[in-house]
Amino acid sequence: MRISSQFDSGNIEIIRADDPMDVHLAIKHDNLSDFYQWFHFRVSGVADTPCRFHIDNAGGAAYADGWEGYRVCASYDRENWFRIDTAYDGKALSWEVEPEQDSLYFAYFAPYSMDRHADLVAEVSGSPLVTTSVLGGTLDGQDMDLVEVGFGPEGRKKVWMIARQHPGETMAEWWMEGALDFLLDTDNPVVAALLKKCHFYIVPNMNPDGSRRGHLRTNTAGANLNREWNEPSMERSPEVLLVRQKMLETGVDFHLDVHGDEALPYNFIAGFEGIAGATDKQLKLLDRYQTVLANLSPDFQTEHGYEKDTPGNSDLKKCTDWVAHTFGALAMTLEMPFKDNANLPDPDYGWNPDRCRHLAKSCLLALHRIADEL
Ligand SMILES: [Zn+2]
Repeated sequence: MRISSQFDSGNIEIIRADDPMDVHLAIKHDNLSDFYQWFHFRVSGVADTPCRFHIDNAGGAAYADGWEGYRVCASYDRENWFRIDTAYDGKALSWEVEPEQDSLYFAYFAPYSMDRHADLVAEVSGSPLVTTSVLGGTLDGQDMDLVEVGFGPEGRKKVWMIARQHPGETMAEWWMEGALDFLLDTDNPVVAALLKKCHFYIVPNMNPDGSRRGHLRTNTAGANLNREWNEPSMERSPEVLLVRQKMLETGVDFHLDVHGDEALPYNFIAGFEGIAGATDKQLKLLDRYQTVLANLSPDFQTEHGYEKDTPGNSDLKKCTDWVAHTFGALAMTLEMPFKDNANLPDPDYGWNPDRCRHLAKSCLLALHRIADEL
């Protein structure tokens, strides 16, 4: 039996792996940070061998609530990620499996590699609707890709969508695939109508370094990018600085920051209720967008989510609050589950890439419904 994680977004430490029925592992923390929860590794030499895995340090992870009711993602072919039940005793996360093939991959959620990201950007750049550009470089020297979709910003609403500030929340980039797929389907009359009204600025991956390094939450410097929006710097958070600069140049009317939540088994939106000076129009639109989206998608709901900030208790270090405050825009954080949507569970696959893509399409349909009110 062999266990490895020396690949894009790999993360695991082997504690003991001499007995397949008693494998002990640990998740590595993000570079220069205490956060950890993302894992991704391959086990090989295990065809028809009963195996039991324990992640011994699960209880110390960033969101230990995330392990209750969690089912691990597994794949033979790295395309199809099915779920396996786990047990969590407050310290270790454990599961058993008898692999049908020589090797099997495990991950916290279906991984989204930087190679796939490069493929996505290259593929969409062929469309006449798309302009791609590189905003600058990350601390590890990777590109910060911006994808613009539309007929130009003049006279149109500026729609921003960003994903994976927290790199382990790979569902956010699966969502981006769905969003781009929807926007480039020019036979869809909703898209034609939407592109008359809106010009799109899309950052499919806000944290390429954390993604490649197999981080949960931070970049190479250990910065949680969603706490850098008030005062980003080229030394600590160039990813945010570069995107913020571009936003200040273009303006923002609508903004969606796409994330994943470890604990809650629902899709939900977090708003900007805490910012001082939120306008009635902004707050009304926040409510209206969520109502429209809940009507369009059974995978979205408004009952479960984060507690709303009380007015005057904003955190301008967070993207949504900073954007809502700076531009008076409708700015929202979309959270998708690592687990599943408890209102519409999928016993085989849980929340998964396809459902992320579908939710993205519903989010854009909802935008179409409210675009005139922005
Ligand atoms: Zn997040």
